[in-house]
Amino acid sequence: MRYRVFRPPYCYRWGVLILSVVTVTTFGVSAWRSPAESTPAPQPVGNAATVRETPARNTGEAVRDTARDGRFVALTFDDGPDPRYTPRVLDLLAKHDAVATFCMVGTEARRHPELVRAVVSAGMRLCDHTVTHDQRLRTRGERRITAEIVGGWTDLVLATGDDAPIDYFRAPGGNFSPRLNAVAARHGMRPLGWTVDTRDWTLPGAGRIVETVQQSVEPGSVILLHDGGGRRDQTIEALTRLLPWLAEQGYGFGFPG
Ligand SMILES: [Zn+2]
Repeated sequence: MRYRVFRPPYCYRWGVLILSVVTVTTFGVSAWRSPAESTPAPQPVGNAATVRETPARNTGEAVRDTARDGRFVALTFDDGPDPRYTPRVLDLLAKHDAVATFCMVGTEARRHPELVRAVVSAGMRLCDHTVTHDQRLRTRGERRITAEIVGGWTDLVLATGDDAPIDYFRAPGGNFSPRLNAVAARHGMRPLGWTVDTRDWTLPGAGRIVETVQQSVEPGSVILLHDGGGRRDQTIEALTRLLPWLAEQGYGFGFPG
């Protein structure tokens, strides 16, 4: 009888013990996982919900090739959007059934969000070219670097919403550094280089821009052009000639990858 009297309390104690272990484990793990502050790398405000996961293939190495093998080139346009030139570039691309990647500056994207949306709805890709286009960004401190890169990314997201992919980051002036690339990689962006520099921003004349491409293009080329940052009539003129020429040479138009 004494044995049967003491048995229920023992069962009860074991039950309480097991329940306590389960409770402490469950709450302990969730408490450890939930606060953003516990993440070692600082995350930007408003970023956690929308940033896409860094692709596994993102090694921080600059992209200097087209995503598709074969006779493809990737056109890239920097420093826009600009209401004088970006719509003309889009018209020309549409006329030749071509696609391109636009490396936009945050301040301009903020000024012309409708152009950012027009670029995306035309089937083009976006690239983060920082907020203010500071060509000495790689010499700045960690906070400034993060503000410029994440801020540029944020400006593009705010203009387009959640859906438009922002797969690339291009440092102002092409002045990449491992630190810049690491910040971009944390936000799912790969550094975007180029293999054909038209130097169109030096205003060498449309003919010279065309010749530069004709002399150095090859399958997989990533071609650097500008649709913003100054007068770009020469670029537009050159593009008018280059798009049909590239098509005649059997080139298709793709994205960097
Ligand atoms: Zn630029």
